[in-house]
Amino acid sequence: MAVDFIDVEIPEPGQWQEVSPGILWLRMPLPFDLNHINLYLIEDYDATSKTKGYALIDTGIGLPKTQALWDSLLTKINAPLTKVIVTHLHPDHIGMAGYLVDKFRVPFYMSHSEYFVARALSAGSRGASGWQDDEYLVRCGMSADYVTQASEKRKNNKGVGQVILPIPLQHERLQEGEEIKIGTDHWQIMIGRGHSPEHVCLYNKQTHVLISGDHVLPIITPNIGVYSTEPNANPLKMYLDTLPQFKNLPEDTLVLPSHKQPFIGLHNRVDELIEHHHEHLEHLREFCKEGKTIKDCLPVLFKRELNEHNLFFAIAEAFSHLNYLYFQQEMRRDINDIGHYIFSTK
Ligand SMILES: [Zn+2]
Repeated sequence: MAVDFIDVEIPEPGQWQEVSPGILWLRMPLPFDLNHINLYLIEDYDATSKTKGYALIDTGIGLPKTQALWDSLLTKINAPLTKVIVTHLHPDHIGMAGYLVDKFRVPFYMSHSEYFVARALSAGSRGASGWQDDEYLVRCGMSADYVTQASEKRKNNKGVGQVILPIPLQHERLQEGEEIKIGTDHWQIMIGRGHSPEHVCLYNKQTHVLISGDHVLPIITPNIGVYSTEPNANPLKMYLDTLPQFKNLPEDTLVLPSHKQPFIGLHNRVDELIEHHHEHLEHLREFCKEGKTIKDCLPVLFKRELNEHNLFFAIAEAFSHLNYLYFQQEMRRDINDIGHYIFSTK
């Protein structure tokens, strides 16, 4: 195996395990195939109130079940939160931030892009016309029926805002290369791109601990997708460009990811993630020797059956790989007579 999981029992939802001195690992449930998220509490000291407490990294999805688990956990742990830090805008990370920031009236830390994109996406379309969302699905090669049904569903759906509680109206900006002090330690801010716009990872130089969020995960690979908000994005290039920096951290770094388990083996994992995408790109170059739609390419990238929730992310992932090859000028991208993109290897 390329990574070694540390020998700590997986915490039950609403419980915790110490993974490193002063760092507690928590788990919250998710209503998806990926059924959990890891959150971390780091011992901290609040200079204003002169109280000991914990800085929290990520918050869980904004559903009543998570809130109930938070209430019970906070009672058991009997210490306040001092800071709420969110790695990126996805609802399993930011969902409960508003609740926790309000409860303790503490500062809320995010990178600039993640904060504002989270505010924008959770506010929904505000009645804006949906033709561009429809066109995105057509370009992806989805059937006319599928596009019509998706369009109908969107009308009755509040989108991602349903699982994100109102986001605090103020944030403290986390920036690449700067540090944030938690307790007596300084954590270095590292930015990863591609899975989300300006994903924050935190690295502790003294203890060699990396909080990697979704940027570096064991076993599974983070979704790298092109979505309807920016169909000409090239997030795979951004992801591949921001992974190698993590190989500059020591080999013995303890990685605390947002899904699965904490592990040692950062260098191997970074190599594997890069390799994984290059393999997908190679398979697509071969498959698209005769022009293919984005939907045609799904079986090349995904061997498992895809449910509706997964299909949305799978299309976006296939799109990101094909756009990468298009912007590398290795593929042509034409539009056929029914509006589908046809990608063909040059
Ligand atoms: Zn994510």
